[in-house]
Amino acid sequence: MLKFCSLFSSSSANCLLVYDETTKILIDCGSSLKRTSAALLSIGIDVGDINAILVTHEHTDHTSGIVTTSNKHSIPVYANSPTFNAITGNEKIKNIKIISTDEFDIGTLHITPFKIPHDAACPFGYVIKSGSSQLTIATDLGYVDRAILKFFTGSDFAFVESNHDIQMLLNGPYTYPLKRRILSDFGHLSNKACSDLVCHLASCGVKKFMLGHLSESNNTPSLALSTTVDSLKFNNIAVSSISVAPKEEISEIITI
Ligand SMILES: [Zn+2]
Ligand SMILES: [Zn+2]
Repeated sequence: MLKFCSLFSSSSANCLLVYDETTKILIDCGSSLKRTSAALLSIGIDVGDINAILVTHEHTDHTSGIVTTSNKHSIPVYANSPTFNAITGNEKIKNIKIISTDEFDIGTLHITPFKIPHDAACPFGYVIKSGSSQLTIATDLGYVDRAILKFFTGSDFAFVESNHDIQMLLNGPYTYPLKRRILSDFGHLSNKACSDLVCHLASCGVKKFMLGHLSESNNTPSLALSTTVDSLKFNNIAVSSISVAPKEEISEIITI
């Protein structure tokens, strides 16, 4: 049985925890060792018991704590070669495992990486399976196409990005080039794009959702949640659970 929770999720720090009875992994490590350890301890997990850190891409909101956390506790870092080369301070990471889109195992977890469109060296989403439990994680992506949708097939839970409200972004403080980058095919999913994705996935059998990687400047948790919930209601689609990952607090633990 898989369990999932978000330790940090926003445009400034991202770290997710996936575990079963015997294996515990972090997806990204975008906050300090001190804060990551404290978040894990709040649910009774010692950071030294983490078996691996999987990296989605090199942006600092996903990697700023990786060197210290990995080296201090001898935790292997799994990343593809372009991502590893683009991580700041990568030469200091002592235990690196180079991966591709080939499936692999970490302990009792079966991992399937897949490519996503984002302005990074080689960004990945992940499908993670333990026994008959399966989840899919995809944040930091400019769009979703059929090739990506197939990696949600068979998953009971999806952690997906609901980055910004388009009107808030257009009227907000960001520079025009940054607004263009976020709205581009290599940027981030808007609340509307997220709601379309969730409706599609829910009608294809995904039952539980958590929305994450919200922009602090161009979104609010209530707006992100209501956009998708309203769309589900409008389309008469039921889900078992849907919530928003808090920015700096640990989320509820989802059992999959
Ligand atoms: Zn990010
Ligand atoms: Zn990014």
